[in-house]
Amino acid sequence: MEYYDQAETWDRQTIERTQLVRLRNTLTQALRSPFYRDRFERAGLAPQDMRSLADLEKIPFTSKEDLRAAYPYGLVTVPMEELVRFHASSGTTGAPVVVCHTQDDLDSWADLMARCMYMVGIRRSDVFQNIAGYGLFTGGLGIHSGAERLGCLTIPAGTGNTRRQLKLLRDMRVSALHIIPSYALYLGNALLEEGEDPRSLPPRIALVGAEPHTEEARRRIEDLLDLKAYNSYGLSEMNGPGVAFECLEQNGLHVWEDAYIAEIVDPKTGEAVPEGEPGELVMTTLCRRGMPVIRFRTRDLTRFLPGDCPCGRKHRRLDRIAGRVDDMLIVKGCNIYPMQVEQILMSFREVGENYLIILENEENMDRMRVQVEVRSEFFVEDMRALTSLQRKIAGRLRDEILITPKVDLVQQNSLPRIEGGKARRVEDRRFAKL
Ligand code: ADP
Ligand code: ZN
Repeated sequence: MEYYDQAETWDRQTIERTQLVRLRNTLTQALRSPFYRDRFERAGLAPQDMRSLADLEKIPFTSKEDLRAAYPYGLVTVPMEELVRFHASSGTTGAPVVVCHTQDDLDSWADLMARCMYMVGIRRSDVFQNIAGYGLFTGGLGIHSGAERLGCLTIPAGTGNTRRQLKLLRDMRVSALHIIPSYALYLGNALLEEGEDPRSLPPRIALVGAEPHTEEARRRIEDLLDLKAYNSYGLSEMNGPGVAFECLEQNGLHVWEDAYIAEIVDPKTGEAVPEGEPGELVMTTLCRRGMPVIRFRTRDLTRFLPGDCPCGRKHRRLDRIAGRVDDMLIVKGCNIYPMQVEQILMSFREVGENYLIILENEENMDRMRVQVEVRSEFFVEDMRALTSLQRKIAGRLRDEILITPKVDLVQQNSLPRIEGGKARRVEDRRFAKL
């Protein structure tokens, strides 16, 4: 195995022994914050109570609400002069959560990120374009620092301005890039529409993440742009990108267990699920000093993949994130995740990359409408072909989600999009009148 960091080669015993030591250190450090001092006192917990990793279960969870309530400095454990960077989550699901870092924290984050990039074949000779927001969003500076740490020529392209992005990709002979999946599909199609071949763009590797996407969407990105796309998972509360990442096998994301403890729990009860079962990911930082976060409820749904990865790394693999606990839609009593809809839509050649799920309430009945972009070459005048496509899509969706949505076929690039930002897949109009 070619590795960037020795920790990638550790066996299970070394990983777990290190986790226990780092967990105790993390608790000791956390006690310096008003938030955790209070928490642990109430729970009657001390760092030395962690005799084995199983004792982690004794520690109460930390929720997003806790972090919001502790705004802005309630979880900080070091004097102000040690803090050097501030980030915040993009606020997809409510008020933002802030995270403060020391220089050591930033260094270990950059190393984790560089490790991910090295794992998928990026080297210091690569030219790397980071198509991500450089504000508070961690996908900007987070990925940027990893690329520089690795030694790539790093282009802080930011988001938007598709024409300039394409010019940079070509002129600078960019070999690897970071891009949000929905924007990757948009970028490729924008070129196609202009009669150009997106497969002739230079990059051979893409890091894609920051939003849920299906395996079908990944394959589409790979075909469209003729490159390998690797799934990148992270969240601001755990630094940002660099938490879990696919290796060359493209089968599950190795979560870096020397830097984090990952658990999967039942989102309702908070109890650990049996190994391999799906549930909510809970994460603990092990290498952060400025603001450690312990047993954080990520609200993200996944599971541990069973067995060893052929790449040789013993850090456990997470399955592709199925969505957020909060993403679940309840329509006519059925539980539906947007990714179930995406998976069906993307299996139709005729269907383009953008879609929107609209929930409405008419005469006290929930209704689901799915607006689907159809590729230009299929958006023909032949009504029969379109009607038949519409029926086929509705039928396949019914088989998957158990209710029959109304399917609207619309022209490519006609649905609203957030250029370079996280896509919005659902519009719930049911409660608008309240
Ligand atoms: P926000 O919660 O406001 O979006 P972040 O910018 O910190 O804040 O985003 C982290 C979240 O983005 C994760 O908790 C997860 O829901 C989502 N996410 C990040 N990477 C992926 C990925 N590879 N696949 C699916 N979802 C992802
Ligand atoms: Zn692997």
